[in-house]
Amino acid sequence: MPDNVLSSSTDAKTCLQRVNTLMASPAAKALLDPDSKKGSRRFKIMNVCGGHERSISMSGIRNALHPSIELIPGPGCPVCICPEEDIYQAIQLALNEDIILLAFGDMLRVPVNTSKKTIRTLQQAHAAGADIRAIASPLEARQIALQNPHRAVVFFVAGFETTTAPVAGLIAEFIPDNLSFLLAARLTWPAVAMLLESDIPGFDALIAPGHVATIMGGNEWQFAINQFQIPTAIAGFTPESLLTAFYSVLRQQLEQRLFLDNCYPQLVTQQGNISAQAQLKQTMNIVDANWRGIGIIPQSGFALKAAYDQHNARLLFDDYEQQARRHRGAMPAGCDCAKVVLGKLYPYECKLYGRTCKPDEPVGPCMVSDEGACRIWWVHGAPRNKTKA
Ligand code: SF4
Repeated sequence: MPDNVLSSSTDAKTCLQRVNTLMASPAAKALLDPDSKKGSRRFKIMNVCGGHERSISMSGIRNALHPSIELIPGPGCPVCICPEEDIYQAIQLALNEDIILLAFGDMLRVPVNTSKKTIRTLQQAHAAGADIRAIASPLEARQIALQNPHRAVVFFVAGFETTTAPVAGLIAEFIPDNLSFLLAARLTWPAVAMLLESDIPGFDALIAPGHVATIMGGNEWQFAINQFQIPTAIAGFTPESLLTAFYSVLRQQLEQRLFLDNCYPQLVTQQGNISAQAQLKQTMNIVDANWRGIGIIPQSGFALKAAYDQHNARLLFDDYEQQARRHRGAMPAGCDCAKVVLGKLYPYECKLYGRTCKPDEPVGPCMVSDEGACRIWWVHGAPRNKTKA
């Protein structure tokens, strides 16, 4: 049983009532509005994961919460932060080398910063004749490589720990000779740590991603309590689990009793999946890594170990990245994705949102991915209360 008084099996309606009742209490008012002349502020909760944001938006939780609670989408969209130059490299590999290029579906529509007259997405490269295939699981990559023994197969991997762990498992078990990896995988917690280390993190409490914690262990998020003294709860993807986590962090704040609360006990343990972690350790190093529009975040990326050099697409093929290319690595002109990803801006605060940037014609990656806040808000509806406190 988690130490949050609300059990994660409590129904969503009850959870919501409990959160809103707590938020309306004199203690919460005193916390947020110690001097009523200055007006109240909101209790800001960052939900790290794009899956959380989707569940929050689809279920309408944001609009049902007490108006003094503000939910801020965080950096949990791997497609949104995948380096532009890596996508460019994948496109060029597919166009110029005799390969089969595999990628998860979201990645196919992310545009790079080249002229609109050129091929700017993997989808356009596919239409131009490149052999590009969308896959849903790393096992498909192995299957396609085995079915095509005379072709080189490159798997373009963008994702966080939950995606990277099965790739590590695939590599550790068996990789066909003709399968290689263009790895652009990242860890979630370093981006959150970077925000917390900044002068203005922009949030009062943290909801950590349940699927990442399932693999890496709940303990990975203990740093938020120990180093930054910020109320933190790990949540799953149901409204009940999320609301339980909101209740927990609010109560932690009000009682000044901070602890890492596991509101996803069905799957998350303190230690996580030990064998998945061992496979990650066996196959990959943790390295400083670039996040699109944000820059280098220390120790935030996965790179293949030297023992797998013969499967490292960065070493096997020419470098097409064109270091001098104009706007290389940047967000598209006018796109505020990086600020959206870091919770500094809401999607509708981008001037292009819903005007020149929509899901059927995305300008930036946050409007492409199912885990991107811009797309989620456009598809499922932006919150009613549009003002930021
Ligand atoms: Fe980028 Fe489009 Fe989102 Fe603006 S609305 S931040 S252009 S993805």
